[in-house]
Amino acid sequence: MGLFVQKYGGTSVGTTDRIKAVADKVIGFKKQGHDVVVVVSAMSGETNRLIALAKDMQEKPDPREMDVLVSTGEQVTIALLCMTLKDKGYDAKSYTGGQVKILTDSAHTKARIQNIDVENMRSDLSEGRIVVVAGFQGVDEHGNITTLGRGGSDTTGVALAAALKADECQIYTDVDGVYTTDPRVVESARRLEKITFEEMLEMASLGSKVLQIRSVEFAGKYNVPLRVLSTFSDGPGTLITLDEEYANMEQPVVSGIAFNRDEAKVSILGVPDAPGVASKILSAIGDANIEIDVIVQNVAADNNNDLTFTVHRNDVEKAASILEDISEELGARKVVTDDKIAKVSIVGVGMRSHAGVASRMFSALANENINIQMITTSEIKISVIIDEKYLELAVRALHSAFELDQAAE
Ligand code: ASP
Ligand code: MG
Repeated sequence: MGLFVQKYGGTSVGTTDRIKAVADKVIGFKKQGHDVVVVVSAMSGETNRLIALAKDMQEKPDPREMDVLVSTGEQVTIALLCMTLKDKGYDAKSYTGGQVKILTDSAHTKARIQNIDVENMRSDLSEGRIVVVAGFQGVDEHGNITTLGRGGSDTTGVALAAALKADECQIYTDVDGVYTTDPRVVESARRLEKITFEEMLEMASLGSKVLQIRSVEFAGKYNVPLRVLSTFSDGPGTLITLDEEYANMEQPVVSGIAFNRDEAKVSILGVPDAPGVASKILSAIGDANIEIDVIVQNVAADNNNDLTFTVHRNDVEKAASILEDISEELGARKVVTDDKIAKVSIVGVGMRSHAGVASRMFSALANENINIQMITTSEIKISVIIDEKYLELAVRALHSAFELDQAAE
């Protein structure tokens, strides 16, 4: 018999009927003899609704009061779920983050968990009770309510699983697992049986928004077996696991194709080719708290360089105006921006042991006549920046070039 932490997201508890269906799912596990700790999110749309109310009151809502407000969403769900479990004849008890004592630091709206008191939960479980915990929230050392950032219930689930040494942390959501790429773009995308923590982090940070990134980091650090699966259908979902366990299996070179349209390109043209110039440009951007992703500097011709980098689309105007300011000082020729770009990445731990992955990627794109504007690589990822209008074509071409397509039935 195992101990499972199960987290149900907003859509899974979006209506009272859905909360009743979650109760049936939990009871199914309980009947098999398992201990279950359930973590729930606010009913779908609720957190956004609360944030909108706050913005009606204060342009920049007070962070402490914001946490008092938004933590109520999850409190509603835990009570409703316990009521329906009891109605169905099962003993259950709800806990807010503070009642468990999920101790966090005091960074309101983005707090980090420091310690979890497992005593009460353990004694409930030993008395046969189902434990229901509010996701997304904790308490600081002064007793203030804190929250863990948007999507933070995933992190609550993983942290509880780590603290309780659960057999598995199951994240129930509205998709039935992690896919080789977005099935809305590539019809033949496949659900992955397994993916490593590292790959999942790359996929998540590149825009596959299945899990809060921090929860994946946490699960990797504490080696919590993490499974993503659907609330609405039965199936094994996707297991997120350590590299070593995975290495024994037959490994594909590339596990998935991630992409996003969140970035824009900024170039400063004709800057003098001299030491300190790139540093001057990029520190000015960094000082404005703008994050830079891909950077390319061409080889200098006639003592002039072009430097191009990408930033989030929301930051492109700010970045451009900073460059305009320093471009006079540097004697640069021109600043240009382009937000009609997209980033496409291939991700896989299998790349570590395979040569020729980049050339396979680039020829797949060349065959479709897609021009690569920028390239960046890491040990388990290659990303390219291309014209936005070819994004879907590129994803499809790469998906089949790396043989990720579903076998025809
Ligand atoms: N309710 C919070 C949010 O919407 C936390 C969560 O759902 O994980 O961000
Ligand atoms: Mg959520």
